[in-house]
Amino acid sequence: MSPKIDPNALPSQPRRAASIETWDDEFEVVVVGFGVAGGAAAIEAARAGAKTLILEQATRGGGATALSEGTIYFGGGTRVQNATGFEDSYENMLAHVRAAAGPTADPEKVRLYCEQSLEHFAFFESIGVEFKDTFFADKVIFPPTDDCLIYSGNEEAWPFSQEAKPVPRGHKPKKQGSAGAYIIEQMIDAATKLGVLIRNETRVRTLVRDDTGRVVGVVTKHEGRESAIRATRGVILTTGGFIMNRAMVEHFAPDLAKCRYPIGSDGCDGSGIRMGMGVGGAAVNMHEGLMTTAFFPPVTHIKGLLVSAQGQRFINEDCYHGRVTDAIAQKADGRAYLIVDDTLYGQSIVPYALAGVEETIEDLEKSLGIPEGQLVHTVASYNRAAERGEDPVFHKAGKYVTPLVHPPFAALDLSVDKSVWATFTLGGLDTQATGEVLTVDGQVVPGLYAAGRASAGLTRSGRYYASGMSIGGGSFFGRQAGKAAAKAAKVD
Ligand SMILES: Cc1cc2nc3c(=O)[nH]c(=O)nc-3n(C[C@H](O)[C@H](O)[C@H](O)COP(=O)(O)OP(=O)(O)OC[C@H]3O[C@@H](n4cnc5c(N)ncnc54)[C@H](O)[C@@H]3O)c2cc1C
Repeated sequence: MSPKIDPNALPSQPRRAASIETWDDEFEVVVVGFGVAGGAAAIEAARAGAKTLILEQATRGGGATALSEGTIYFGGGTRVQNATGFEDSYENMLAHVRAAAGPTADPEKVRLYCEQSLEHFAFFESIGVEFKDTFFADKVIFPPTDDCLIYSGNEEAWPFSQEAKPVPRGHKPKKQGSAGAYIIEQMIDAATKLGVLIRNETRVRTLVRDDTGRVVGVVTKHEGRESAIRATRGVILTTGGFIMNRAMVEHFAPDLAKCRYPIGSDGCDGSGIRMGMGVGGAAVNMHEGLMTTAFFPPVTHIKGLLVSAQGQRFINEDCYHGRVTDAIAQKADGRAYLIVDDTLYGQSIVPYALAGVEETIEDLEKSLGIPEGQLVHTVASYNRAAERGEDPVFHKAGKYVTPLVHPPFAALDLSVDKSVWATFTLGGLDTQATGEVLTVDGQVVPGLYAAGRASAGLTRSGRYYASGMSIGGGSFFGRQAGKAAAKAAKVD
């Protein structure tokens, strides 16, 4: 007998339209959840002339977006790229994103996202989000200043550096430090000016479906009272991911369940995904997520050597931190040490356990319990090539290659059970580029759209992720969903 599934991981059943005696309200487009995807969907639906409502369970919009750094992935020659001397093009961006988003990405979504990237940048400017014409050169998770452009993914890292000319595409709005909350405030302002009705503290409990199978509304709860709201053109689910729903994470994404720091808002409880599944929507890619242990800054740590419990390297350390962390999980069984010498060791932004500090690599190998000779061999062979500024095995970029020769030597424990692994989900409802939700056999669920982390987005695994892809992809495909729903045929 298969184990019983926790009910909190199961699809939520819809309400039958025939059971609704009276509708409390009627809108053309109803958007569920005010993060970046919901804000973008509502703005476009309203711009297309639809009477639009956005429902948010929290006291104010924001979700995971408001907690984020706010980096957005744009390219193809944005004003900021041009002003800071980086030459990019649609073709160059497409070549990179195709390779970097990996084989599980939807090729049509990748193409559209790259083709319309400049227009998407203009959308953010049109709602008042400002970007400074500056480049922050250090490899960072996000600029701590109000600077804009960074290398936010794998552009400079092998093998991606071979597929397209490396240029930075992470754009952080002009705010000191994190900018996610600023993006949301601009969206609330823009949506309000366009006449979108925003109802906070209103949780959507179920979808409403008519006898033809079309989604025609939602049932909400506000101050203990249920209301039925009719959506004559479409319902858009932009409720975020499911990292805060332990039952769903354990059921669908056991690797993510091992990470000790789920990141997101309380709203990332998968309610939208479960509602979509309840009306036949396919949930795809549910085992995937971004896992990250941010071992840099300091940038000198990238010059260190990441080794498994057997003392062997398994990836170039200059990849995006999510790709490195995914490699620790998949290739090193979740256990890894970053080996640094005295000149490379620095204060990390997150605290790491020191697994050992010794005067020689031999002693460090012993104190880590690594099989005899393995770490000694790894460091010696790395050092030999590093003398020439080369890394022939994993192709780390020359600027990060230096021999490890200055004692003492230290091992930072980056293992999943010993260090800070932050994570959020990347699985969700299967959608077309229009945001229309698909069933397992590829049919559209009439009247239902999804975008952002409630859907399986632009990039679908931590191995193939870059900072800026969630806010970028969520807002871009949220906009497509808003436009499509606004012009969908109206139900009587
Ligand atoms: C610390 C941190 C930093 C990050 N940094 C970046 C970054 O720099 N760049 C990047 O691209 N990505 C980043 N991410 C990821 C990114 O922020 C999220 O994936 C993205 O913002 C999700 O947007 P969303 O609109 O899909 O969902 P959210 O922003 O989570 O919004 C969903 C909203 O729906 C509401 N909701 C949920 N269920 C219901 C319901 N049943 N009824 C009504 N309302 C509901 C929630 O309360 C929430 O407000 C970061 C994430 C975190 C946590």
